[in-house]
Amino acid sequence: GAKKAGRNTYQFHTPDMNRDIEAQITLESALRRAVRHMDLTLHYQPVVDSATLAVVGTEALVRWPLADGGFMPPARFIPIAEELGLMEEIGAWVLWSACTQGRIWQERVDEGFRLAVNLSWRQLRDPGFPDRVQEVLEGTRLSASVLELEVSEATLARDPVLIGHTLAALHERGVTLTIDNFGSGHGSMKTLRHHPFSVMKLDRQCVADMLTRHEDAVLVETATLMARRLGLRVVAEGVETEAQLEHLRNHYCDLIQGFLFGQPLPPDDLMAML
Ligand code: C2E
Ligand code: MG
Ligand code: MG
Repeated sequence: GAKKAGRNTYQFHTPDMNRDIEAQITLESALRRAVRHMDLTLHYQPVVDSATLAVVGTEALVRWPLADGGFMPPARFIPIAEELGLMEEIGAWVLWSACTQGRIWQERVDEGFRLAVNLSWRQLRDPGFPDRVQEVLEGTRLSASVLELEVSEATLARDPVLIGHTLAALHERGVTLTIDNFGSGHGSMKTLRHHPFSVMKLDRQCVADMLTRHEDAVLVETATLMARRLGLRVVAEGVETEAQLEHLRNHYCDLIQGFLFGQPLPPDDLMAML
């Protein structure tokens, strides 16, 4: 509660802070309710071949629909979900719905149509997770070979040893592993050498800055070269302009994702695009 301000008293909670705390509590209970009713949805962003511009797959991105028709961005609610212990449940739901949708695309678009799903720290540190993935693949009849599980550089840095065990077990089950947001800070050559990654996703910020900042251009070029020399495919994220596309193509980047080709969309809208 508000503390009365006076001489020799400290105001621990200003009215502004109280409002922030209340807003936080409201947000938390709304998120708990949304998860209880699984009032979340997935959008899918096309992943495009940089040479042919054919859509070869998609990335599933979770959305929390709001009453006003908008969406709460995942960067805002995922950290809260992690804190509230809701992320396992959200992650399990995301995996199941994405694989169900992925199976539909395998049947209607292409047998090899790829599906990327992001993983959270909570999922990766669970030793039972690889078995869960196996169950979902069997339950949805999605081929393991089209599923790509994305682990961000920052998540991996939290506990490379523990996560390493999970990654090895997932690799054994035939799932493709992607290091996401490579170049955002924690990644190194060692990361790529020590874990069974087959795809490198270049960080969106590096891509955004590569034509204006020399350091980012060097980072994109050397990371791409390194990945290719190690036998990984390279995806550039956040491609918004033709100039970026041209540059990435000239520097041997295989795949492209970004607003230039498509925003994340509901599955039916993506289907209409294909
Ligand atoms: P991410 O996995 O790196 O996903 C790419 C983000 O870049 C998405 O943001 C996408 O909308 C955005 N993006 C793609 N192309 C462009 C572009 O050309 N310009 C710009 N400015 N942005 C672009 P989104 O959907 O807001 O997701 C943010 C992050 O939240 C994701 O980053 C991922 O780390 C996390 N996330 C999203 N869905 C899930 C999920 O289902 N599970 C988990 N664990 N994390 C998720
Ligand atoms: Mg991702
Ligand atoms: Mg990314």
